[in-house]
Amino acid sequence: PSAKVTDHETPAREAALKQQRAGGEKFEFQAEVNRLMDIIINSLYSNKDIFLRELISNASDALDKIRFLSLTDPTILGEGEAAKLEIKIKLDKENKILTIRDRGIGMTKEDLIKNLGTIAKSGTSSFLEQMQKGGDLNLIGQFGVGFYSVYLVADTVEVVSKHNTDKQWVWESQADGSFTVYEDADGESLERGTEIRIHLKDEASEYADEDKLKALVSRYSQFINFPISLWASKE
Ligand code: ADP
Ligand code: MG
Repeated sequence: PSAKVTDHETPAREAALKQQRAGGEKFEFQAEVNRLMDIIINSLYSNKDIFLRELISNASDALDKIRFLSLTDPTILGEGEAAKLEIKIKLDKENKILTIRDRGIGMTKEDLIKNLGTIAKSGTSSFLEQMQKGGDLNLIGQFGVGFYSVYLVADTVEVVSKHNTDKQWVWESQADGSFTVYEDADGESLERGTEIRIHLKDEASEYADEDKLKALVSRYSQFINFPISLWASKE
């Protein structure tokens, strides 16, 4: 399917975002996470495709979690669009922004801070060790740090998230040692779930190609139990 992507980068939206960012809180990445990100962002690894597999797998995990909770409390899913357990991938060709959105469990502010940067998982140091020994970056997911593979293709990443028990927050980082978290007061409400906005690096502009993405999505969606759709903006 092809449709016009909502433009996140309108001047009004940009101005609102700027103001919110200015009021955001800044956090340093935990030291090992920082080393990991350095390796990824400077990597000459050619199989960058794997970032999409990792983000789709995280979206699927988040959907599994909300589905599991809904077994005992069906009201938890909400109504209408929010209740649809699906993954939507959108490509904004003009701005080279790729977004992956799920209707999963979402993350609270605290989840964003802990899960995406300040607490290193046990796998982080093992993965660093493997990489030093010339290990394969493709295995990143097995070490529990797959999210960071997004920096194979991104220079800036925004993670917008809404958990049932919290407001909507944005986590943002340019992989420069720190990340910022701010309330998304003016953004379009996700109702529940997570949207990862990937600002593609110049070297990764190949992922702004609809056919390439289509092929990747169909490859990775084989193992996913939720519907995945791909939308691309007209050029
Ligand atoms: P793993 O998936 O192996 O736990 P990742 O590095 O891929 O490791 O993700 C780190 C954590 O970030 C996840 O465990 C989860 O708590 C959180 N997370 C990442 N993506 C999402 C998402 N789309 N929805 C909710 N939580 C997410
Ligand atoms: Mg993962």
